[in-house]
Amino acid sequence: MSRYDVVVIGAGPSGTTAARHLARAGLKTLLLEKEKMPRYKPCGGGVTAKVKNVLDVDFSAAVEDTIARASVAFRDEIRFPVQFSEPVGWSVMRDRFDLLLANQAANQGAKVRDGVKVNHIEIDDAGVRVQVPGEEIHAEVIVGADGANGIVARAAGLHSERRLGAALEAEMELPNASVEHWRGVWHLDFGAVPYGYAWIFPKAEHLSVGVGAFVQTKQKLNLRRLLDQYISSEPTLQNARHVALHGHTLPLGGTRRRVSKDRVVLVGDAANLVDPFSGEGIYAAIKSGKLAAEHVAAGLRAGKLDLADYTARIQTEFTRDYRYAEKLGAVFYHMPTRLLNIYAQARPLQLFTLEIARADMDYHTAIKKSLRQAPRFILRKSWHKIRGVGK
Ligand SMILES: Cc1cc2nc3c(=O)[nH]c(=O)nc-3n(C[C@H](O)[C@H](O)[C@H](O)COP(=O)(O)OP(=O)(O)OC[C@H]3O[C@@H](n4cnc5c(N)ncnc54)[C@H](O)[C@@H]3O)c2cc1C
Repeated sequence: MSRYDVVVIGAGPSGTTAARHLARAGLKTLLLEKEKMPRYKPCGGGVTAKVKNVLDVDFSAAVEDTIARASVAFRDEIRFPVQFSEPVGWSVMRDRFDLLLANQAANQGAKVRDGVKVNHIEIDDAGVRVQVPGEEIHAEVIVGADGANGIVARAAGLHSERRLGAALEAEMELPNASVEHWRGVWHLDFGAVPYGYAWIFPKAEHLSVGVGAFVQTKQKLNLRRLLDQYISSEPTLQNARHVALHGHTLPLGGTRRRVSKDRVVLVGDAANLVDPFSGEGIYAAIKSGKLAAEHVAAGLRAGKLDLADYTARIQTEFTRDYRYAEKLGAVFYHMPTRLLNIYAQARPLQLFTLEIARADMDYHTAIKKSLRQAPRFILRKSWHKIRGVGK
């Protein structure tokens, strides 16, 4: 039987970040991952600029492309580029990105064990007991970083009704010229999926192509069919070959819920922290991993674990603004063409995208400012129409 201060379950961005900070704070930390690392993770691998604000690790070795331009479409009806003055993010492959973060956790002193699946967890006043094949591990605190369908939330009684989106992703091999066509660009097509979009994200030598739906609907979407339709309709994807095709649920944030209790904190997807407007989850995974580590380290240091504070912090940092993201999604995905036509011509709105990607602006402020701009924009457009310009 081995003993640790903290055991972290899952070596995605949330768990590796939590383990790195916990070990750095001097806590005896164990990180358990059921897969052998590096492991494939279904993900577009779109890392937005704000990740640099919270990740004090140089991840350039895992970067496949730097993105300073978006390309926005609605089938072949609307298509326009949005150029930014600086990178809006980076494309990574999650196997390399997550391995790099796991290695950083190990460098800070965390013990990282991969290929070890947690089968059973017991939590009581005396501590946490974690069963892995052939062994029982004891710890003071457990961090649930085990993704959307994790075992920790269920063992802790923190699992509840959730709003789930879904996404399906294909890694696609293409002739060089087709990959180069998308170099430095994130392409989003809002006509390919109801309540979501299709994406093309460039990697070093291939493309990630996927579809995601971020507003839960009553109708069940056949993502496989939507992805096939999208691939066959997108001119730049002809002659493409699927290398891998994987889907997963997206536990959408925006609902107040407990993500901690005595001896337990949930982070990332396990805490349902996917952005309900964009489907982005890596940033929230990393940030919540860091916040969880801070709360756990402070509690253990003080000899008084009060992890309720962590739930309150998550609500302030994410849930509050995710409610606005959800509202924005409800309006935007209801009438995408009308709003995309405005977005195509309103440079200030395009610049809000960069500010959101950098976390210099939250959704609430972006919505407020956009509404303030809207009358001016509509008036200007009408004026141009009357004068016969701007057609
Ligand atoms: C198709 C798709 C595309 C996406 N694209 C993007 C994107 O472009 N950008 C973005 O920001 N977000 C994207 N997301 C969301 C993003 O992938 C997740 O939000 C992110 O991976 C969450 O990180 P995490 O560390 O919380 O969990 P995960 O990355 O899911 O990691 C959880 C880990 O826990 C391990 N685990 C689970 N159970 C156990 C157990 N019992 N014992 C031991 N280990 C266990 C798993 O093997 C896994 O490695 C996408 C999601 C999907 C499905």
